[in-house]
Amino acid sequence: MRYTEICIIGGGPAGLTAALKAAGLGAEVTLVDRNDYLGGQLIKQTHRFFGSKQQRASERGINIARELSAAVLNNDKIKVLTEATVLGYYEDGVVAVEQHDKFIKIKPQKLIVATGGAEKTLAFPNNDLPGIYGAGAVQTLVNVNGVKPGKKVLMVGAGNIGVIVSYQLIQAGVEVAAIIEAAPTIGAYWVHASKVVRAGVPIYTSHTIKRAWGDQELEGATVVKLDENWQPIAGTEIDFDVDVICLSVGLSPLTELLWQAGCKMAYVPELCGHVPLRNENLETSIPGIYVAGDVGGIEEASAAMMEGALAGLNAAKSLGYHAPDFAEQRAGVLKELEGLRSGPVGEKIRSGLAKVVL
Ligand SMILES: Cc1cc2nc3c(=O)[nH]c(=O)nc-3n(C[C@H](O)[C@H](O)[C@H](O)COP(=O)(O)OP(=O)(O)OC[C@H]3O[C@@H](n4cnc5c(N)ncnc54)[C@H](O)[C@@H]3O)c2cc1C
Repeated sequence: MRYTEICIIGGGPAGLTAALKAAGLGAEVTLVDRNDYLGGQLIKQTHRFFGSKQQRASERGINIARELSAAVLNNDKIKVLTEATVLGYYEDGVVAVEQHDKFIKIKPQKLIVATGGAEKTLAFPNNDLPGIYGAGAVQTLVNVNGVKPGKKVLMVGAGNIGVIVSYQLIQAGVEVAAIIEAAPTIGAYWVHASKVVRAGVPIYTSHTIKRAWGDQELEGATVVKLDENWQPIAGTEIDFDVDVICLSVGLSPLTELLWQAGCKMAYVPELCGHVPLRNENLETSIPGIYVAGDVGGIEEASAAMMEGALAGLNAAKSLGYHAPDFAEQRAGVLKELEGLRSGPVGEKIRSGLAKVVL
C-alpha cells in the first residue's frame, strides 16, 4: 500500500494545476495519469487557444501543457505516475491503479478527480465501419502520433472542435470534403470557421448523416438536409466519397470513479451529462473527494485550470496547510472563474452549475 496526502487522478490542465496549488501550500501529492505524457487534451492542441487573456488565450495548448508538466515534474512535493490507469475507488478509500502490468494500491487522505471527458458518438447505419473516428481521436493521431487517418474526411459537427480539427487535417495534407452541422448555425467561433471556408471547405448547416457505406471499411456517406423540426427532407440527400468520418458531436464527463465512490450525481444537460453535486470548494457529497475540470461538466481548459487551482488549494487547506495569502489566492481564482463564465457565452454553464450546488 502506498500512502499519500492528496491523490489526483488525471494529468490534464485541471489535475496539473491542482497538483501545483496543493504542493505550493506544502501538501504531498501523487498524480496519476493513464497516458505516457502529462497535459491531457492540451498536448494535441497546436492551435492558438481561445479563452480568457489571464488564462493564456492565444497561446498554443501544447505550450501550456509543456510548461505545466515541467513545473509538476520539477516539484519535489509531487510524485507522478504515468501509464498508470486508475481502475477503481473502493469503500476503504483505496485507489486501485494498474501500471506496467502491476497492481498498485494508493491510500490518499484526500482525492481530486480530474479525469476529463470522453467523446460522444452518433447512431446511424454502419457507424461501426473502420474509418469512423471521434474528432479528438483524429487530433491525437495527427498531432501527437503524426499519423494521417485517411485521405478524405467528412467532418460531422461545426463546433470549435470540429472546425479546428478540420483545419489541422488540411494542414496535415488531408482533404476535408465538407463539414456538416445539424443545427441551423455554426457553433464555432467565426475566426476558426472562416479559416476552413477560406481553405475551400463547404459547411452545410441543417444537415445530418443518414448512413455510411463500405464493404470492409468506410467508402462513403450520405447526408441529408433537416427541416425546422430536425426531420430529414426526402430528396435532399448528398453522397460523399470519403474514407474517414470524423464525429465531433460533443464530450461527456468521465465520471465512473465518482459513481463508484458513491458521490451524489445529477443529470445536467447544460454540463453535458451526469455530473457530481459539489460545494463552492469543489468538494463532492463524499467528504474529502474533490472534482475539477471537464469531469464536473464540459467547459474549456481555462475553467479547468481555475477549478484545478480551487480544488488543490481547498484540499491542501483541509489537511491543515496554509499560506498567508490563502484567502487572496482563493478569492482571485473565484473571481477569474466568475469572469470566464460571465456574459451570454457563459449562460449555459451558469445555468448548469446552479443545478449542482450541494
Ligand atoms: C480538439 C479540441 C480543441 C480544444 N480547444 C480548446 C481551446 O482552444 N481553448 C480551451 O480553453 N479549451 C479547448 N478545448 C477544451 C479543453 O481541452 C478541455 O476543456 C480541457 O482539456 C479539460 O481539462 P481536464 O483537465 O478537465 O481534462 P483532460 O484534458 O481531458 O485531462 C484528463 C486526464 O485524465 C486522464 N484520465 C482519465 N481517466 C483516467 C483514469 N481512469 N486513470 C488515469 N488517468 C485518467 C486522461 O488520460 C487525461 O490526461 C479543446 C478540446 C478539444 C478536444
